[in-house]
Amino acid sequence: MASGRFAPSPTGPLHLGNLRTALLAWLFARSAGSAFSVRMEDLDPLACRPEHVAGQLRDLAALGLDWDGPVVTQSARRSAHEAALQHLIAAGHTYPCYCSRREIREAALAPNGADPEGRYPGTCRRLPVAQRARREAQGRRPALRLQGGAVPIAFEDRVHGRVEGTVDDVVLRRNDGTPAYNLAVVVDDAAMAIEEVVRGEDLLAVTATQIHLCRLLGLPVPVHAHVALLRGADGQRLAKRHGAVTLAQRLALGQSPQEVRAELAASVGLAAPGQCPTTATLLERFGALDPTSLSGGP
Ligand code: GLU
Repeated sequence: MASGRFAPSPTGPLHLGNLRTALLAWLFARSAGSAFSVRMEDLDPLACRPEHVAGQLRDLAALGLDWDGPVVTQSARRSAHEAALQHLIAAGHTYPCYCSRREIREAALAPNGADPEGRYPGTCRRLPVAQRARREAQGRRPALRLQGGAVPIAFEDRVHGRVEGTVDDVVLRRNDGTPAYNLAVVVDDAAMAIEEVVRGEDLLAVTATQIHLCRLLGLPVPVHAHVALLRGADGQRLAKRHGAVTLAQRLALGQSPQEVRAELAASVGLAAPGQCPTTATLLERFGALDPTSLSGGP
């Protein structure tokens, strides 16, 4: 059975933008009769908290979004991430990177260093042996990067149509040993047999790199659908400063979960303002929706 998923990071309560992405991921999966899974992307121990895991799951359930099987916890899958890393290292697809965030920022500011997409400027890609030894001698612990080679990758996105991107030298393992998002996401989606990845448009730019990683690891490439991010009245991506942006805050203002769901559905044309459709009605309407209408535009 085909499977979709929602993969939040438990760093705080989900805001309405995350909840809208969750609703859309659920609608994509359930309207196609697919399974739907939830994975908690909790690899960053400093940013993630168990109470946010519980709170996020409670909010999904309150909106009527159900999932199959146990929730997958990404931090419990580190040995699978490490095995994938070892495979990439052995095949020569990685290199150590000693750059600090500041050095990367400064390199990007140098003449000709600026990359409009904020890609890694490549300082450590071909680091002379002597310089590598010097950094090691300074006690710097390297991160591990993908030798991306700016390979061009084209893919069909269900929302954006044909997308052309290039592979970036993303970090695969942070210098504290933690597997990085771009590696973990492809390893875990494959292990969970995810065939359709529905997520926010902010991740469209890394998708070419993730598809490349799937190919290097011999993993199936899922279908992608990158949906628009919810924006505040000022046109900026929704954030805390926009006021009551979590479900708990909306409930405290007297709204019901069904009303919040209806508002999210209305924002993608699945409900008229003031209407409170059931999930069954939403599924029916979603079946008739053109997925390309879910793009936030250029
Ligand atoms: N955990 C990521 C986030 O919360 C989403 C990852 C994904 O859907 O691929 O932004």
